[in-house]
Amino acid sequence: MKPQFTIGWLYADLMNIYGDRGNILTLLKRAEWHGLTPNVIELDRGPAPENMQDVDVFFFGGGQDREQALIYDDLRQFKQESLQKAVDDGAQVLAVCGGYQLLGHYYQTAGGERFDGIGMLDVKTEAGKKRFIGDVVVQTKLDALTPDTLVGFENHSGRTFLGERAKPLGKVLMGKGNNGSDKTEGAVQGNIIGTYLHGSLLPKNPHLADHLIGKAVRRRGGGALSSLDDSAELSAHGWILQRAQRR
Ligand code: GLN
Repeated sequence: MKPQFTIGWLYADLMNIYGDRGNILTLLKRAEWHGLTPNVIELDRGPAPENMQDVDVFFFGGGQDREQALIYDDLRQFKQESLQKAVDDGAQVLAVCGGYQLLGHYYQTAGGERFDGIGMLDVKTEAGKKRFIGDVVVQTKLDALTPDTLVGFENHSGRTFLGERAKPLGKVLMGKGNNGSDKTEGAVQGNIIGTYLHGSLLPKNPHLADHLIGKAVRRRGGGALSSLDDSAELSAHGWILQRAQRR
Protein backbone atom coordinates (compact mmCIF):
# COMPACT_ATOMS: atom_id res chain seq x y z
CA MET A 1 0.00 0.00 0.00
CA LYS A 2 1.54 3.34 -1.07
CA PRO A 3 1.91 5.84 1.80
CA GLN A 4 -0.79 8.51 1.99
CA PHE A 5 0.01 12.19 1.42
CA THR A 6 -2.82 14.45 2.57
CA ILE A 7 -3.22 18.12 1.65
CA GLY A 8 -5.57 20.33 3.67
CA TRP A 9 -6.83 23.16 1.45
CA LEU A 10 -8.09 26.07 3.58
CA TYR A 11 -10.98 28.04 2.04
CA ALA A 12 -10.47 26.67 -1.48
CA ASP A 13 -13.65 28.48 -2.56
CA LEU A 14 -12.68 31.98 -1.35
CA MET A 15 -8.89 32.16 -0.92
CA ASN A 16 -7.63 31.19 -4.34
CA ILE A 17 -6.31 33.89 -6.70
CA TYR A 18 -3.51 34.45 -9.26
CA GLY A 19 -3.20 30.73 -9.93
CA ASP A 20 -2.95 29.56 -6.30
CA ARG A 21 -4.79 26.36 -7.25
CA GLY A 22 -1.66 25.40 -9.21
CA ASN A 23 0.08 24.74 -5.88
CA ILE A 24 -2.45 22.02 -5.06
CA LEU A 25 -2.08 20.44 -8.52
CA THR A 26 1.72 20.49 -8.19
CA LEU A 27 1.73 18.85 -4.74
CA LEU A 28 -0.75 16.18 -5.92
CA LYS A 29 1.20 15.34 -9.08
CA ARG A 30 4.66 15.36 -7.51
CA ALA A 31 3.48 13.25 -4.55
CA GLU A 32 2.17 10.73 -7.10
CA TRP A 33 5.47 10.80 -9.01
CA HIS A 34 7.23 10.16 -5.69
CA GLY A 35 5.19 6.98 -5.22
CA LEU A 36 2.68 8.32 -2.69
CA THR A 37 -1.14 8.23 -2.67
CA PRO A 38 -2.12 11.93 -2.62
CA ASN A 39 -5.50 13.32 -1.55
CA VAL A 40 -6.99 16.71 -0.75
CA ILE A 41 -9.33 17.67 2.09
CA GLU A 42 -11.13 20.97 1.41
CA LEU A 43 -11.53 22.95 4.66
CA ASP A 44 -14.21 25.55 3.96
CA ARG A 45 -16.13 27.62 6.47
CA GLY A 46 -17.66 25.80 9.45
CA PRO A 47 -16.48 23.48 12.23
CA ALA A 48 -13.09 21.81 11.70
CA PRO A 49 -13.46 18.16 10.59
CA GLU A 50 -11.76 15.41 12.65
CA ASN A 51 -9.54 14.40 9.74
CA MET A 52 -7.71 17.74 9.92
CA GLN A 53 -5.25 15.80 12.10
CA ASP A 54 -4.43 13.51 9.14
CA VAL A 55 -3.14 16.43 7.06
CA ASP A 56 0.55 16.53 6.06
CA VAL A 57 0.57 19.93 4.35
CA PHE A 58 -2.01 22.71 4.72
CA PHE A 59 -2.32 25.20 1.86
CA PHE A 60 -3.82 28.66 2.46
CA GLY A 61 -4.11 30.79 -0.66
CA GLY A 62 -4.53 34.51 -1.24
CA GLY A 63 -7.64 36.66 -1.43
CA GLN A 64 -8.74 40.26 -1.81
CA ASP A 65 -9.81 42.20 1.29
CA ARG A 66 -13.41 41.19 0.57
CA GLU A 67 -12.64 37.48 0.75
CA GLN A 68 -10.41 37.89 3.81
CA ALA A 69 -13.31 39.67 5.54
CA LEU A 70 -15.50 36.61 4.85
CA ILE A 71 -13.17 34.05 6.42
CA TYR A 72 -10.98 35.59 9.14
CA ASP A 73 -13.61 35.05 11.85
CA ASP A 74 -14.13 31.43 10.82
CA LEU A 75 -10.36 30.87 10.91
CA ARG A 76 -10.23 32.07 14.52
CA GLN A 77 -13.43 30.45 15.70
CA PHE A 78 -13.34 27.08 13.94
CA LYS A 79 -9.88 26.32 12.55
CA GLN A 80 -7.24 27.86 14.82
CA GLU A 81 -7.23 25.19 17.52
CA SER A 82 -7.14 22.19 15.14
CA LEU A 83 -4.56 23.86 12.91
CA GLN A 84 -2.29 24.63 15.88
CA LYS A 85 -2.65 21.02 17.14
CA ALA A 86 -1.83 19.56 13.70
CA VAL A 87 1.20 21.87 13.26
CA ASP A 88 2.46 21.10 16.78
CA ASP A 89 2.21 17.46 15.76
CA GLY A 90 4.41 18.04 12.69
CA ALA A 91 2.06 19.08 9.88
CA GLN A 92 3.30 21.89 7.65
CA VAL A 93 1.60 25.02 6.32
CA LEU A 94 2.27 26.88 3.06
CA ALA A 95 0.40 30.20 3.05
CA VAL A 96 0.34 32.74 0.24
CA CYS A 97 -0.38 36.49 0.50
CA GLY A 98 -3.84 36.97 2.07
CA GLY A 99 -3.53 33.58 3.78
CA TYR A 100 -0.02 34.45 4.96
CA GLN A 101 -1.32 37.73 6.41
CA LEU A 102 -4.11 36.03 8.41
CA LEU A 103 -1.70 33.50 9.95
CA GLY A 104 -0.07 36.57 11.51
CA HIS A 105 -1.37 38.80 14.32
CA TYR A 106 -3.58 40.98 12.05
CA TYR A 107 -4.15 42.46 8.59
CA GLN A 108 -5.26 46.11 8.44
CA THR A 109 -6.80 47.31 5.18
CA ALA A 110 -6.00 50.63 3.49
CA GLY A 111 -9.36 51.82 4.85
CA GLY A 112 -8.23 51.07 8.43
CA GLU A 113 -10.40 47.97 8.96
CA ARG A 114 -8.55 45.34 11.02
CA PHE A 115 -8.92 41.58 10.49
CA ASP A 116 -7.48 39.77 13.51
CA GLY A 117 -5.27 36.84 12.55
CA ILE A 118 -4.44 33.71 14.54
CA GLY A 119 -0.87 34.65 15.46
CA MET A 120 0.72 31.37 14.35
CA LEU A 121 3.25 33.54 12.52
CA ASP A 122 4.92 36.40 14.41
CA VAL A 123 4.11 38.99 11.72
CA LYS A 124 1.74 41.95 11.31
CA THR A 125 0.47 43.54 8.13
CA GLU A 126 -0.86 46.99 7.33
CA ALA A 127 -1.97 47.97 3.84
CA GLY A 128 -0.36 50.91 2.10
CA LYS A 129 -1.91 53.12 -0.59
CA LYS A 130 0.11 51.71 -3.52
CA ARG A 131 -0.23 48.03 -4.52
CA PHE A 132 2.94 46.02 -5.07
CA ILE A 133 2.48 44.22 -8.41
CA GLY A 134 4.98 42.30 -10.56
CA ASP A 135 7.56 39.52 -10.87
CA VAL A 136 9.54 38.60 -7.75
CA VAL A 137 12.88 36.84 -7.37
CA VAL A 138 13.96 35.75 -3.89
CA GLN A 139 17.25 34.28 -2.65
CA THR A 140 16.55 31.73 0.09
CA LYS A 141 18.55 29.77 2.62
CA LEU A 142 15.62 27.46 3.40
CA ASP A 143 16.79 23.86 3.74
CA ALA A 144 19.80 24.52 1.43
CA LEU A 145 17.40 24.40 -1.51
CA THR A 146 18.94 24.10 -4.98
CA PRO A 147 18.60 26.45 -6.83
CA ASP A 148 18.69 28.95 -3.94
CA THR A 149 16.18 31.17 -5.76
CA LEU A 150 12.39 31.25 -5.69
CA VAL A 151 10.41 33.03 -8.41
CA GLY A 152 6.82 34.20 -8.53
CA PHE A 153 4.36 37.08 -8.95
CA GLU A 154 3.13 39.50 -6.30
CA ASN A 155 -0.01 41.62 -6.12
CA HIS A 156 -0.74 43.05 -2.65
CA SER A 157 -1.35 46.28 -0.73
CA GLY A 158 -0.25 44.79 2.58
CA ARG A 159 3.14 45.61 4.08
CA THR A 160 4.24 42.82 6.39
CA PHE A 161 6.73 43.22 9.22
CA LEU A 162 8.35 40.28 11.00
CA GLY A 163 8.61 39.90 14.76
CA GLU A 164 11.50 38.09 16.46
CA ARG A 165 10.04 34.57 16.20
CA ALA A 166 9.62 34.68 12.42
CA LYS A 167 12.59 34.53 10.03
CA PRO A 168 12.42 35.77 6.42
CA LEU A 169 11.88 33.11 3.74
CA GLY A 170 14.50 35.00 1.78
CA LYS A 171 16.03 38.20 0.48
CA VAL A 172 14.35 40.09 -2.36
CA LEU A 173 16.52 40.25 -5.49
CA MET A 174 13.67 41.67 -7.58
CA GLY A 175 10.24 42.99 -6.55
CA LYS A 176 8.87 44.41 -3.25
CA GLY A 177 8.37 41.36 -1.04
CA ASN A 178 7.10 41.83 2.52
CA ASN A 179 7.07 45.63 2.68
CA GLY A 180 9.16 47.18 -0.08
CA SER A 181 11.71 48.53 2.41
CA ASP A 182 13.61 45.85 4.37
CA LYS A 183 14.31 43.59 1.34
CA THR A 184 12.79 40.54 3.09
CA GLU A 185 10.25 38.21 1.56
CA GLY A 186 7.95 35.82 3.35
CA ALA A 187 8.36 34.27 6.77
CA VAL A 188 9.37 30.90 8.20
CA GLN A 189 8.45 29.84 11.75
CA GLY A 190 8.65 26.14 12.71
CA ASN A 191 6.59 24.17 10.17
CA ILE A 192 4.97 27.28 8.68
CA ILE A 193 6.04 29.07 5.48
CA GLY A 194 4.37 32.34 4.48
CA THR A 195 5.09 34.14 1.20
CA TYR A 196 3.75 36.81 -1.17
CA LEU A 197 4.61 34.64 -4.18
CA HIS A 198 1.63 33.83 -6.38
CA GLY A 199 2.00 32.73 -9.98
CA SER A 200 1.37 29.97 -8.96
CA LEU A 201 4.43 29.38 -6.76
CA LEU A 202 5.17 25.64 -6.78
CA PRO A 203 5.06 24.77 -10.54
CA LYS A 204 8.09 27.03 -11.17
CA ASN A 205 9.75 26.09 -7.83
CA PRO A 206 9.70 22.27 -7.76
CA HIS A 207 12.49 22.29 -5.15
CA LEU A 208 10.17 24.00 -2.67
CA ALA A 209 7.37 21.52 -3.44
CA ASP A 210 9.76 18.62 -2.73
CA HIS A 211 10.91 20.33 0.46
CA LEU A 212 7.30 20.12 1.72
CA ILE A 213 6.66 16.58 0.44
CA GLY A 214 10.05 15.31 1.67
CA LYS A 215 9.50 16.66 5.17
CA ALA A 216 6.04 15.03 5.29
CA VAL A 217 7.47 11.65 4.20
CA ARG A 218 10.26 11.81 6.78
CA ARG A 219 7.74 12.75 9.49
CA ARG A 220 5.97 9.45 8.82
CA GLY A 221 9.21 7.42 8.93
CA GLY A 222 9.90 7.38 5.17
CA GLY A 223 13.29 7.95 3.52
CA ALA A 224 14.64 10.56 1.11
CA LEU A 225 12.62 11.38 -2.02
CA SER A 226 13.85 10.11 -5.37
CA SER A 227 14.92 12.91 -7.72
CA LEU A 228 12.59 13.74 -10.60
CA ASP A 229 13.35 15.18 -14.05
CA ASP A 230 12.51 18.87 -13.42
CA SER A 231 13.99 20.25 -16.62
CA ALA A 232 10.68 21.79 -17.76
CA GLU A 233 9.94 23.34 -14.36
CA LEU A 234 13.47 24.69 -13.95
CA SER A 235 13.56 26.16 -17.42
CA ALA A 236 10.38 28.09 -16.53
CA HIS A 237 12.17 29.16 -13.33
CA GLY A 238 15.24 30.18 -15.32
CA TRP A 239 13.13 32.13 -17.76
CA ILE A 240 11.76 34.35 -14.95
CA LEU A 241 15.32 34.85 -13.64
CA GLN A 242 16.53 35.95 -17.10
CA ARG A 243 13.55 38.27 -17.54
CA ALA A 244 14.33 39.76 -14.14
CA GLN A 245 17.98 40.30 -15.07
CA ARG A 246 17.04 41.95 -18.39
CA ARG A 247 15.05 44.59 -16.47
N1 GLN B 1 -5.86 41.59 0.32
C1 GLN B 1 -4.48 41.45 0.64
C2 GLN B 1 -3.64 42.63 0.15
O1 GLN B 1 -4.04 43.34 -0.63
C3 GLN B 1 -3.96 40.15 0.04
C4 GLN B 1 -3.96 40.17 -1.46
C5 GLN B 1 -3.59 38.80 -2.05
O2 GLN B 1 -3.82 37.73 -1.49
N2 GLN B 1 -3.05 38.81 -3.27
O3 GLN B 1 -2.55 42.78 0.55
